[in-house]
Amino acid sequence: MKRSPPPPVIDAARVVAYAFVDDIPYLPVGSRVLADNAVDQAPRLAIAVSLSSPSGPLIFHCDEEWIAMGASTAESIERAKQDAECNYPGVGNRWIDTNVTVEEALAFYDSETAGLKCSFCGKRPFEVDGLIEGPRATICRGCVEEFYCDFQFDDGDVVGN
Ligand SMILES: [Zn+2]
Repeated sequence: MKRSPPPPVIDAARVVAYAFVDDIPYLPVGSRVLADNAVDQAPRLAIAVSLSSPSGPLIFHCDEEWIAMGASTAESIERAKQDAECNYPGVGNRWIDTNVTVEEALAFYDSETAGLKCSFCGKRPFEVDGLIEGPRATICRGCVEEFYCDFQFDDGDVVGN
């Protein structure tokens, strides 16, 4: 089976290391996989850091196309590798560092989302609760709430003219 490296970003997280584990039998130990269905054998693993928050890294359990089937969390990249070792013994010496920078990850993310951003505050989809796309502008939930509040409590004329 063809083994291609992962994209720089999976699910709005910057991939820092990856490993091919399709030939390592999965051991269901200490499973903390966050998914609707429990993930057993995964052919690919990726350790990634969320673009939106500097919290601990994620371990993505991916299919051959690097689509995340499930994810677990860890306190550090070292800890993520230790956790993966429990499920995939021997993966420890297979990790490949990507050296993807935050700038490269954001550029890739923007290309994947066609540069979608809030027209008012400039935030990207992963930074907001949801983006509403209109024919001429896109607005995030935060800006909707801000403008709504302004509208509610302004007793002057409608703003903007
Ligand atoms: Zn906004």
